[in-house]
Amino acid sequence: MESTINPTVLVVNCGSSSLKFAIVDPATGEQYLTGLAEALGLPEAQISWRFGDSDKQKANLPSGANHTVALAYLEEQILEGKPELMKSFIAVGHRVVAGGELFSQPTLITDEVVKGIEQCIPLAPLHNPAHLLGIAAARRLFSELPHVAIFDTAFHQTMPAKAYIYPLPYELYKEHAVRRYGAHGTSHYYVTTEAAKMLGKPVEETNIITAHLGNGGSVSAIKNGQCVDTSMGLTPLEGIVMGTRSGDIDPSIVFFLADTLGYNIEQVRDTLNKKSGLLGISGKTSDFRGILEGVDAGDEQCKLAFDIYCYRLAKYIASYYVAVGKVDALVFTGGIGENSMPMRAAVLKMLEGFGYVESPEANAAARFGNSGLITTAESAKAFVIPTNEELVIAQGAAKFAK
Ligand code: ADP
Repeated sequence: MESTINPTVLVVNCGSSSLKFAIVDPATGEQYLTGLAEALGLPEAQISWRFGDSDKQKANLPSGANHTVALAYLEEQILEGKPELMKSFIAVGHRVVAGGELFSQPTLITDEVVKGIEQCIPLAPLHNPAHLLGIAAARRLFSELPHVAIFDTAFHQTMPAKAYIYPLPYELYKEHAVRRYGAHGTSHYYVTTEAAKMLGKPVEETNIITAHLGNGGSVSAIKNGQCVDTSMGLTPLEGIVMGTRSGDIDPSIVFFLADTLGYNIEQVRDTLNKKSGLLGISGKTSDFRGILEGVDAGDEQCKLAFDIYCYRLAKYIASYYVAVGKVDALVFTGGIGENSMPMRAAVLKMLEGFGYVESPEANAAARFGNSGLITTAESAKAFVIPTNEELVIAQGAAKFAK
């Protein structure tokens, strides 16, 4: 197999205690290796990986292993005996959650760019510091390769001011950059290009609404291939209902929690980010599969969580008709969007007034990695398109290959 390896990009996605990696052919999307180091910084640090479709392998990392140790394990142990794969690297692509207004394109990482990513830490206090750890470790280990940052916020930088400015005192934007930035841009961008292909239209003439629905989730309005609005804001807390995040709420709830219930700011933050959403309503789980199981078992709270999730999502989609005008298609992606037939059926039913009619057979068929149209021939079009953020990162990084 190794003699036929094309040029590849090492894709790195660091969380605060995790590091996801993949070796991706940017021309075909083939993933030669995928893996995940978890529990970094803890005694039970471990790493798992899979070459292509082969079986998953696992190993314990030294107790307290950090991002550098995990990457060194990848280079020295996992890729040991795979010299062709090591030689195939043309770049390293790093996922970065927040690029603020500084970055709207894949960007070659220099010390200056590292400073820019540092400046954006207040916009992603958990993510950007972790990305910086991964970037520093990877630049040391793979010093001969170009390192490229691909920002989740970049695709949303085309939003007009009317979509990204909050109705707050304007100096908060001018002096403190308080505005809407969005997230999941890499995924919204990927499904936009795929939807254009499925519609047989040039991407710059494609008008769609994309719903990326995973543990976090966001909806974007895409006009002529460019993002004109998105549901996440200054942070990923705004927008639709998520696994543990509330999405949109009356801001005065914050005052109620503080003034009436005596919450401190940490408790408020924790409540809205980690105890709300599907978990908060159901009281059981943040996982959509668990919610669906609860609905099937007659659990009232799970049913309420499902109904609120679908209702608020459908309202967002409807509101983006204002942003887009004439919509060519609605696209579902992300773990929930790609797999949950009942959610898609419920949302399309609520959007009946916009001309959507579900095809139950097609909706049932579009699961587990299958893309497809899930509406009838006469209906407004809705697609399921599995996302591929690794491919977008690999392609962005490959532009800077030596
Ligand atoms: P992340 O945002 O962490 O990348 P994913 O995109 O993988 O997450 O989405 C995770 C969500 O997808 C979870 O809520 C999970 O329950 C849901 N999900 C995965 N498979 C299914 C399925 N078959 N049916 C319904 N929901 C699913």
